[in-house]
Amino acid sequence: MTIYPALEIPNTLAAGPGPGNTDPRVLERFAQTGVADHMQKDVLRGMIEAKEMLRNVFGTENTYTFGVAGTGFSGLDCIFSPILPGDKVVVFVNGTFSGIDSLTIRMKASSREELAADPINPQPECVTVINVPHGQSVTGDMINTALAEYRPMWAFMAHWETGSGRINDLQGFNDACEKYNVLGICDVVSSLGVDYFRIDDYPAIVAWASCPQKGILCLPLTYAPVSFSDKAINLLARRGCRTYVHNPILEARHWGIIEGRDAAPSYHRTHSCYAVAAFHEALRILLTYTLKQKAADYNYHEKALRHAVTEMGCEVTSNMTSLVVLNLPAELAGLEKELVADCRAEGFCIWPTLSEPVQIRIGILNQLNTESITKIVSLFADAMIDKGAGFNKNEIMYGLKAYYENEWISKGIVD
Ligand SMILES: *Cc1c(COP(=O)(O)O)cnc(C)c1O
Repeated sequence: MTIYPALEIPNTLAAGPGPGNTDPRVLERFAQTGVADHMQKDVLRGMIEAKEMLRNVFGTENTYTFGVAGTGFSGLDCIFSPILPGDKVVVFVNGTFSGIDSLTIRMKASSREELAADPINPQPECVTVINVPHGQSVTGDMINTALAEYRPMWAFMAHWETGSGRINDLQGFNDACEKYNVLGICDVVSSLGVDYFRIDDYPAIVAWASCPQKGILCLPLTYAPVSFSDKAINLLARRGCRTYVHNPILEARHWGIIEGRDAAPSYHRTHSCYAVAAFHEALRILLTYTLKQKAADYNYHEKALRHAVTEMGCEVTSNMTSLVVLNLPAELAGLEKELVADCRAEGFCIWPTLSEPVQIRIGILNQLNTESITKIVSLFADAMIDKGAGFNKNEIMYGLKAYYENEWISKGIVD
């Protein structure tokens, strides 16, 4: 038997699609919290307060708004749990994550025979997958056409597809669901806490899920925010679902949501006092910053990064504001994975795409200041020059400085 030395993990520059850099205040709450069990009064108060703050973050009056312990896919599993075998579903896929969501949905909607035929990647009759090419957005027209043709019970879309960095049409999705009387389900893992939107403005979408580590910025493994409309919960109450742990009605009980109302919490599973305290702090930080200001700041700094990498000869194909997805200039094409590996080895943790085509992804989660963006641009410029790029780094850095100065002048911050 080997007992290994204590695990040391260095601090890196997390400049990928997620996780984002955790605020020291969140880590402090995690570490300063005393041990207390999952029914201790302050732990429960923290969960109730977090639930109420989460309703604000989502922009919703949905009573069934709470956190699912785990990662983004834990929350997604919870919002997909009302899908039962044989339910007709239309799924829009335009990248890695909506592709995995599609897999979860196909597993849940399969009959026993369909699951047995291909257990790891079932292809049930009742699920129609609309594949939109990598680098393109899902448009309202595509959604309308598909829902008109297939008339499903459920439809699913990712709001922001992090695999390709594309924003999909949330309004179009809602409107088509409303028009064809379809229950909409949406993955807002990458957009919640980054973009400004209120889910109550999209009433045909009945279930929503996000994650702890992107816009919420609470990596210390905590909670994936979810929200369900009463329509979804009523359906679930009638039909049930095949999970205890991710059953939305049962999970919600520990957050003090019982029979459709806020009430005293009751045991569902052993929540961690450390996780509750960290999550609570992350929500406080986000709401204090304000969702609107966050969205504006992501927009502003993404433009700076986009501008700089374009000046370096890269082609940006994304339109999300927390992430730039790019092709290297022709003379460096094919070197994407090597370049990313070089950067990662130095603690500058950018990412390639996880599915074809190979592209580079640089993220700015919680890097919303001039110094951080300047550092990211400088490190990326060095990596490209190492690989043989021909641009002048000084010009790029002056260009970035000019971008910020012009913005400051136009915003009246300096004159
Ligand atoms: C990151 C991401 C996920 C998965 O989240 P995990 O926290 O890795 O489980 C799912 N969907 C989208 C759109 C994502 O960006």
